[in-house]
Amino acid sequence: MCYNEIATNQEARFGYNNKNYISKRATSVQSCVSYGWLQQGCPFGFKNMNKTKFKNCAIYTRVSTDMQTEKEFSSCEAQEEKIKSFIASQNNWQVFKVYSDAGYSGANINRPALQELFQDLKKEKIDIILSYKIDRLTRSPKDFYQLIEFFEQSKIDFISITERFDTSTPSGRLLRNIILTFAQFERELTSERTRDKLLERAKKGMWNGGRVPFGYIRKNKKLVTNKKEAEIIKSIFETYLETGFIGKVYDFLKEKDIKDRQGKIFSASFLARILRNITYTGKIKYANKIYQGIHQPIISEEIFNIAQKIHKKRIRKFRVYKNFLFGGLVNCKNCGYKMSPCFTNKWKQRKLKRYYYYRCTCVNKKGWQACSVKNVSANRLEKYILENLERISLDKNYIENFVFLLNNQFVSEITSGRYRTRTCGLFNVTETL
Ligand SMILES: [Zn+2]
Repeated sequence: MCYNEIATNQEARFGYNNKNYISKRATSVQSCVSYGWLQQGCPFGFKNMNKTKFKNCAIYTRVSTDMQTEKEFSSCEAQEEKIKSFIASQNNWQVFKVYSDAGYSGANINRPALQELFQDLKKEKIDIILSYKIDRLTRSPKDFYQLIEFFEQSKIDFISITERFDTSTPSGRLLRNIILTFAQFERELTSERTRDKLLERAKKGMWNGGRVPFGYIRKNKKLVTNKKEAEIIKSIFETYLETGFIGKVYDFLKEKDIKDRQGKIFSASFLARILRNITYTGKIKYANKIYQGIHQPIISEEIFNIAQKIHKKRIRKFRVYKNFLFGGLVNCKNCGYKMSPCFTNKWKQRKLKRYYYYRCTCVNKKGWQACSVKNVSANRLEKYILENLERISLDKNYIENFVFLLNNQFVSEITSGRYRTRTCGLFNVTETL
């Protein structure tokens, strides 16, 4: 048809030099191919036609198990046929693949063909998704919002051929944006409703879920005391009040071979969390406010308050006053880990003395035996580095050579793609100190 039209129409032939005309005609070249235009060599203006970019169309069809409601388009094949004829009526569109979920509900997106479609979308092969009606894709408004949002992000158009929902057109995009605004609005409403609900529960003294605190078990969404664990909680608080140290509590539990739910020794940080958890006094904390709970307390408020006082005192006492000059800048020569600031307290002649160190973080992570360097005195290390910096700063020759070396290294690392930010590894800490 196309061939005859162009070939016999005088005006059309005349129009080959007219770009507008050609571009209009170009869209129908697909059908011209079969009439041999391209095989005979392209007329002027048609030479790029082989490169015409086709849009890949994914067809999605679905019928649910309830066939009564699907009378109008009772089979996937019927839907597919209608969508295919729609695609054929468009220019430069081609069917990429047909995804068919026969006998699946549209209430959720757990459908094999739909999942397969999502997989293919990730490969960026598909430009347009077509379905017979929106409800073929999903019946859930929430899923629909999410899908439309996902399509928008992936720059994929969605067309429902019977409802004229078409995001490849400006009016379709407008509609999509309105839908997305509503989706956002609903999400915000939902989270507000959830917040209100949680606050309401907290005010009533009900536990709001999450990880069940050690000492309790979950029963009908409520906290119920676990006798065995509650005894451990009591002894943790008691030991802490007696000794004033989390480390002592740790030692006590280890000595008695008391373990947590996973059968591990209580870590110091877990013990600290327990000692600060107000739930044990029978209260509920929500959004930084405290409410009277309906669950049984394990320890008294009095004990809890004393524990908090000790904790506050300790924080003040243990603040690191020293300004570490090279924190995070020095690496351990032995194992390559960073040297991080730390300190220890020692009694000397009835006076508490504090010693500052740079400690190899490998030791922190893997234990005392993991690295032979362990600690380096902060004062000695800093003195050593400062002295050397001073010496270097006066050595013009050294600086020039060093800058040259660094620049070369930098360039070679950049060009080989190995460049990463590094800390200064200039000083050989272990050998000199
Ligand atoms: Zn080390």
